[in-house]
Amino acid sequence: MNDCIFCKIVNKKIPCHKIYENKKILAFLDINPVNPGHTLIIPKKHYETILNVDDETLKELAIAIKKISSAVYNGLKLKGFNIGINQFKVAGQIVPHLHVHIIPRKENDGIRLWPTREYENKEERKRVQEKITRLLK
Ligand code: 5GP
Ligand code: ZN
Repeated sequence: MNDCIFCKIVNKKIPCHKIYENKKILAFLDINPVNPGHTLIIPKKHYETILNVDDETLKELAIAIKKISSAVYNGLKLKGFNIGINQFKVAGQIVPHLHVHIIPRKENDGIRLWPTREYENKEERKRVQEKITRLLK
């Protein structure tokens, strides 16, 4: 039994305000929007994070992000929007079914993005760079 809330939306076990659907992708309004029009885009198949998803589905997801962002941006006459994906609990992922947030933004809407910091020193920055790049060779 799959208890995933987004799988239940895909399977029409619970309702949603649908924005877009194709063979692999579903998009619907977030039930608790940051701003009106906040949209979630998901692969219909259950993947927990972007680390699990196959490349073909990822391509479909990327194309849907562009298409749906454009409709949200132009349809709601926005000045801008954020695209976000929370990955794993520590990063704020509550629903463990990969989903992309399209978040409409308004002038002075009071939403603060994450704070930044500096590297301790050049060595720390270099160490971090190496730990990542060695897995990409
Ligand atoms: P996360 O924190 O996992 O990145 O975001 C999950 C999002 O899913 C939240 O913004 C939350 O409001 C939304 N959400 C949770 N349950 C439901 C639901 O049953 N229906 C819809 N439309 N959105 C949901
Ligand atoms: Zn799911």
